[in-house]
Amino acid sequence: MDSNDFQRVKEVLSEPKRIGIVTHRNPDGDAYGSSLALYFYLTKLGHEVKVISPNDCPGFLKWLPGEDEIVIFERDLKRGSAILERSEVVFALDFNALNRLGEVMGSFMETLNPFYVMIDHHQEPDDFADFTYVDPEICSTSQLVYQFMEELGDLDLLDEDISTCLYTGILTDTGSFRFPATDSKTHRIVADLLDHGAKNSEIYSRIHDVNTYDRLQLLSRALHNLQVLKPYRTAYITLSQRELNRFNFQRGDTEGFVNYALSLNNVIFAAIFIEDKKQKIIKISFRSSGSFSVNEFARRHFNGGGHINAAGGRSDLSLKETVEKFRGLLPEYEKQLKNS
Ligand code: 5GP
Ligand code: MN
Repeated sequence: MDSNDFQRVKEVLSEPKRIGIVTHRNPDGDAYGSSLALYFYLTKLGHEVKVISPNDCPGFLKWLPGEDEIVIFERDLKRGSAILERSEVVFALDFNALNRLGEVMGSFMETLNPFYVMIDHHQEPDDFADFTYVDPEICSTSQLVYQFMEELGDLDLLDEDISTCLYTGILTDTGSFRFPATDSKTHRIVADLLDHGAKNSEIYSRIHDVNTYDRLQLLSRALHNLQVLKPYRTAYITLSQRELNRFNFQRGDTEGFVNYALSLNNVIFAAIFIEDKKQKIIKISFRSSGSFSVNEFARRHFNGGGHINAAGGRSDLSLKETVEKFRGLLPEYEKQLKNS
C-alpha cells in the first residue's frame, strides 16, 4: 500500500463507520493482539467496532483487554452474521485467504461484499481485499498495526490497552524477540509500547507461566515420540488423539512443542503432526531455520502455507499415512535440506 492508498483509507475512516475486524481460525497471540489493538484504536476514532473470531482463543490469551467482547462466530452464528452483514468495512487481520477463517465463517464471508482492508504479514496473499497493507518481512501483524497507526498520523492515540495488545502480538510472533524477522525497528516500536503502558514482564508471565501438570506430561509424551531423520536434518513429533485425551488436552497446550524438534543440533526442518478426530484432520506445524521454505513445502503438499520458517497445513489421511507421506517426500528435498 503506498501513501495514496493510506490517504484513501483515511478518507474511508474520516466518517463514523460500522466496522468488523476478523482474524484467522485458532487465533494466536498476534491474531488477537493485532485485532484488539485495532479495535481500541478505531473505537477511539469514533467508529462502531466489533471483533469477530471464528473460534475461541487458548486460555493464555483470555486476559487480553477487550477479549471478553470478541464475538465467537461458530458459537454465536446469529450475532456474528448480523454484525458482519451490517459492517461497511471489514478489516482482515493476520491472514490472507478466506479459507483461513475455517469452513463455517469462510463460506459465510464469501457471500458478503464489504470494503475489505487486509493487514497481514504472510506470503502470497489472495486477491480479495480492496486495500492491502501486507509485508511478509515484518515480524507480526501487530507491528503492522502500529505502522498503520503511524501512517495515518495517529500514534498519539496509543494507550495502555493498545500497547498491551500490540506488545502481546509482537512477543508471541517473534518467539520472544528471537526469530530472524525481529529487527531494530521492532525493538524501537516495542520501546514505544513500554513507554505507553505495556508491562513487559507481566505480559510474558501471563503467556508463558501458565503450564498445567497435564500440559507438561503431554510435552513429555511429545518428546518421547520425537523422531530424527539424520540424513535429511529433519525431526518430527506426533500426537494422537488418544494421547491428547490421556493428558486432558486443552486448546493451546501444544503451542511451541515443534520448536523442541527444531532446537536439535543439525536439525533445520521440524514438524509436529497432531490428530484431530473431531475435525477428521491431522493438523501440522512446520518450522525451519535458514533458507528451506516451509511455506512452499506446506502449500505444495499439505494444503497450507505461512512464512519461510514457520508454516502450517493439514492432511485428510490418517496420522500414520500422513507421517508416511511426509517421510516419503523428504528424498526429493535432500539436496535443499543438506545445503540450507
Ligand atoms: P502454526 O504452526 O503456529 O499454527 O502456524 C505457523 C504459521 O503458519 C502461522 O503464521 C499461521 O498463520 C500459518 N498457518 C498455520 N496453519 C495454516 C494453514 O493451514 N494454512 C495457511 N495458509 N497458513 C497456516
Ligand atoms: Mn502473525
